[in-house]
Amino acid sequence: MTGTRGSRLTIIGGGVMGLMTAYYAAPLAGSVTVLDKSRVGDPGTASFALTRSVRNDYLDPQYSRLAFEARQLWLDLQHRAGERLLVDCGCLNLVKASVTPDVPASYAVRSFAVLEELQLRREALPGPALAERFPQFAADGGWLDVDAGFADVAAVTALLRSVVPARGVEIREEAQIRAITRSGGGWQVQTSAGPVESDVLVITAGLGTNELLERIPGCSVRFPLRPDRPVQSKYFIPEPTARDLYTETALPVFAYLDVGIYGHPLYAGKTPGVKVGFYHPPDAAVVPSPISSVEDFVAECMPGLRGAATVDVAEASGVDTCFYDLVSDDDFILGPVPGAGGVADSVFVGVGWRGTGYKFAPWVGRVLAQLAVQQGTVYDISRFAPGRFARGAQAGGTAA
Ligand SMILES: Cc1cc2nc3c(=O)[nH]c(=O)nc-3n(C[C@H](O)[C@H](O)[C@H](O)COP(=O)(O)OP(=O)(O)OC[C@H]3O[C@@H](n4cnc5c(N)ncnc54)[C@H](O)[C@@H]3O)c2cc1C
Repeated sequence: MTGTRGSRLTIIGGGVMGLMTAYYAAPLAGSVTVLDKSRVGDPGTASFALTRSVRNDYLDPQYSRLAFEARQLWLDLQHRAGERLLVDCGCLNLVKASVTPDVPASYAVRSFAVLEELQLRREALPGPALAERFPQFAADGGWLDVDAGFADVAAVTALLRSVVPARGVEIREEAQIRAITRSGGGWQVQTSAGPVESDVLVITAGLGTNELLERIPGCSVRFPLRPDRPVQSKYFIPEPTARDLYTETALPVFAYLDVGIYGHPLYAGKTPGVKVGFYHPPDAAVVPSPISSVEDFVAECMPGLRGAATVDVAEASGVDTCFYDLVSDDDFILGPVPGAGGVADSVFVGVGWRGTGYKFAPWVGRVLAQLAVQQGTVYDISRFAPGRFARGAQAGGTAA
């Protein structure tokens, strides 16, 4: 490191975004410190669950491209780690005409068109082909995003907990941030665990972000973040005789987003059953349908699980008690914080991942590391500019 700016980096927020930033910044920066008010791996935070969908099938091609880019970084991490981080079971989008009659307008068909446009691996499974390939579903068609599946979150967390400190990063847990002040050309962060001097700050504190911005001198921007959570999230526990049909080797991640449903296969040895969630994300139009719960979906589209024992995901595993960080214009917030300390580009932020951020984590970490240490990123992130929420700025961005 020859420059001075970026030689000492402090990251506030030790979720997956903060840890990935530390991972990518460590080889470039003089020193990297991660501060978290809680513990890394606290199941009460969004990043520390058991499984998270990793898929490319967005309606907005820019998000699909980024998801695929992030996937290459996951594969690289996985290769370096020598252990499985991604479970590539695919992601299947379902349609049943008796539930959502306008099939061409369905999320499945439209997101498949985006995969096609981007030349991503995909497979259309109309009626009989679906029944043959995935007899677990009663639907009229399935559109498969092939290079998709879910992240083994426990494996990712364990990896980050070991490789990040091994790269020389100091992680201070249970560190309450008391003040952030200018210090020389940089910043001093006063914490319950003592002061930390740094040249550049990165804030990856999820819903705690605005509270931190308030502490930064000269920073008037606040982000329109809103907590939200799935209405239901349950494990359906298949009968032992049918179990093999529902594990990650036989069942893909699945979704019927027009009616607010997504699910993960039983992850053998790690989760007790097939996870089914019910939630209407802001980027999916709500189609009136007879499905208003995970039970309705199972009765209609996964008859083999009808009557199966269920348990709440939060109750069974203590995870997913946390919230999505929704943004008013439904776009990520990633880049320099305007006005901070009156100094351009010495505070960066990454937040507003909604219910969809985990899969992007290595890409986000790489971008924030490049911004903080290399004074710029090779990616076009103008759409995600935090400055769109600065006073006087026209709120930009479109629904993702
Ligand atoms: C129920 C649920 C299901 C989801 N499913 C998926 C999915 O299937 N696929 C997908 O891609 N994404 C999914 N997501 C989204 C994904 O999990 C999040 O986008 C991602 O984990 C956000 O990571 P983060 O590091 O920004 O935030 P967090 O994990 O919230 O970490 C923020 C950290 O900042 C710390 N912090 C906060 N305030 C302060 C402060 N003042 N001082 C110091 N530290 C502070 C917190 O303690 C925390 O450790 C889901 C999210 C939820 C909630």
